[in-house]
Parts: sequence; structure tokens; C-alpha cells
Amino acid sequence: MIQVAVNGYGTIGKRVADAVTAQPDMELVGVAKTSPNHEAETAVERGYPLYAAVADRRPLFDEAGIDVAGPVETLVEQADIVVDATPSGIGAENKSMYDAHDTPALYQGGEAADLVDASFNARANYAEAEAADHVRVVSCNTTGLSRLLAPLQEAYGVKKARVTLVRRGGDPGQTGRGPIDDILPDPVTLPSHHGPDVNTIFPDVNIDTLGLKVPATLMHTHSVNIQLQETPDADAVRDRLADEDRLFLIPPEYDIDGAGKLKEFAMDRGRPRADIWENCIWRESISIEDDDLYLFQAIHQESDVVPENVDAIRAVLGTADRAESMARTDEALGVGFQRTHD
Ligand code: NAD
Repeated sequence: MIQVAVNGYGTIGKRVADAVTAQPDMELVGVAKTSPNHEAETAVERGYPLYAAVADRRPLFDEAGIDVAGPVETLVEQADIVVDATPSGIGAENKSMYDAHDTPALYQGGEAADLVDASFNARANYAEAEAADHVRVVSCNTTGLSRLLAPLQEAYGVKKARVTLVRRGGDPGQTGRGPIDDILPDPVTLPSHHGPDVNTIFPDVNIDTLGLKVPATLMHTHSVNIQLQETPDADAVRDRLADEDRLFLIPPEYDIDGAGKLKEFAMDRGRPRADIWENCIWRESISIEDDDLYLFQAIHQESDVVPENVDAIRAVLGTADRAESMARTDEALGVGFQRTHD
């Protein structure tokens, strides 16, 4: 069994901890937190050993009556691998601790690409994480774009991608984030950081990205235009994308017109935290004009990187190849929306 530690138990960390627990070949050694908030209570309720991420803050747990198993260093020492899901920039500060314990580490998209040996997306470049000590699972948006580009690149070749990202202002729990009533070009200069980030996965893909921020919390939406080297018809592209388990082609008859209904659908299907691990592509938006492919996709920022973290664990430790790992992860989590009839 692979022994996994999670350092940083917030939006991403708590989801990764649950996903690790669901895997037949993994065991969660524990999670490290900075504060005894409701998420700490949930960790205790789920039976996850809780470690103090910051020594000075340990008394806060004692005052709240929450048992702490030890300092984060003990957690890291016991683990075969640590998933760092701390806020942007803290992962870089933690790197020397992971090195001191000789424990390989996964970081999240908020860390800089040059912190790590490899940036990772399971579908696109699984093998590049093999035997690496420091790997970054790219951001939610880059994960969504990489999953889409990989099959298109393989099947048709990508001449040029142009993507406009309409980004949620914050996650539902981020009460301090904005905008509240505005639409912001963000950044106003081109490109947004997403295009260069996609190039950490696909160094040769020609991609321009533009970003806007809107007062929404549910999901991001991408308006995608990809110029292909070959020119398939739209039905062929739909069939090709439908073969990918982590791409959900929203059937027109589902009457899902936006992120709100997508989240409602996820809740109806009993998804934990209404998570949507898949890219959600509106099927009828997939269009071909000359050699240009167009589509709209929605990305659930809080959860699409979760299966990728699980796969990155196996990739780094060399316990499964890409196809085995993705299949095992998807089966254990229940990735892929099944139609109830055909
Ligand atoms: P978050 O703020 O929800 O969670 C981070 C957790 O780490 C919090 O519980 C915080 O208390 C804790 N923490 C703070 N300092 C710590 C320390 N020194 N040691 C251990 N824990 C500490 O943040 P998040 O949204 O989960 O983001 C984590 C990382 O994931 C970032 O790199 C972010 O860019 C990336 N990411 C976030 C999203 C998203 O939409 N939320 C999507 C993809 C990737």
C-alpha cells in the first residue's frame, strides 16, 4: 500500500485526502492543518490522523479539544509521498522539509513551474513524472485545457489554439474574493498565464489565452478555438472526445444551460461536494468552420485536479502505467457520468 500524506487540508487537500482513501492501493497516513476549523473537525470525523502544520499554532488545537498526532515533520517522515495542497507559495517554502525527509512531493498549480522537476497532467504527460522528486499538478484551467488538447493533438494535430477563459472570481468559501458586481479583463494584457502554463505540458503547442474574471463561484467557462492540422467533421470530433473518460459531452437533451444546472446535475447524481471531476463540454457547441474547431467547456475548479493528483502519486512511485492508473482512479472515484439509458 502506498502511504500518502496530505499537507494543507483546504479546498484541494480535503478532496485529495478523500480520493486517496478511496483507492485500493493507497493509505492516507494523515493530514496536516494550520487551524482547528470545521475542516479539522471533518478530518477527525473521517478518522484521518491530524498533524500540526505550524508548531506555534498547535496550542490552538489543544484549546479546541482536537487531538493532534504530532508535527508535520513526523507525517512527512512516515509517508512514501506527500501531496502539498497549501496556498500558493507555501509549497515552495515546504520543499526543503520534504527533501530533508527524502519524501517525494506533489505540488499544486499555484506553485511556479520552475520549482519542480516536471509539471503533470495524467492524460498528456504521465511518464514525465516517473521517478521525479518534485512534481506540480497543473492548475484547474491548465488541467482542463490539457485533457482537451491531448486527444486533438494525437488525432488531428494542433496548428494553433486560442482560448478565452471566463474565470470564476473565487471558490464558494472564499468570501473575501471578488469582483462582486463587475467583469474584469484579468490580466488586461495578453497572454494570461494559462497559455504559458499549458506549454509546461505541451512545449510545442502554439496557444494564446485571454482571461476575464466574473462574479461567479461555481465553475470556469472556456471559449475554445483550435485550428487543426487535419479537418475532420464535427461528428468525428464529438466521437473522438466522447472516448475520453474525463471529458463529459453534455447531451443537448439534458437541458443543461450553464454552471448552475451542471452543479445541480452533480448533486442529483450524488457526487460528493457536488464535485465534477470531468471537463464539461457542450456537445452541440462542437463545431468546425474550415480548419477551426470551436467549443465551450466548463471546468469545476475545486475538483478537476483531484484525479490528476491520484495519478501523479502512482506516476512518481512507478506503481502503474498511465492507462492502469487512470482506469483505477476513475473506477475508485466514479469518474465519468453514465447515461441511465441509451
Ligand atoms: P485553500 O486556501 O482552500 O487551502 C489551503 C489550506 O492550507 C488551508 O486549509 C490553509 O489553512 C492551509 N495552510 C496554510 N498555510 C499552511 C502551511 N504552512 N502548512 C500547511 N497548511 C497550510 O487553498 P486551495 O484552493 O486548496 O489551493 C491550494 C493549492 O491548489 C494552490 O496552489 C492553488 O493554486 C491550487 N489550486 C486551487 C484550485 C481552486 O480552485 N481552489 C484549483 C486548482 C489548484
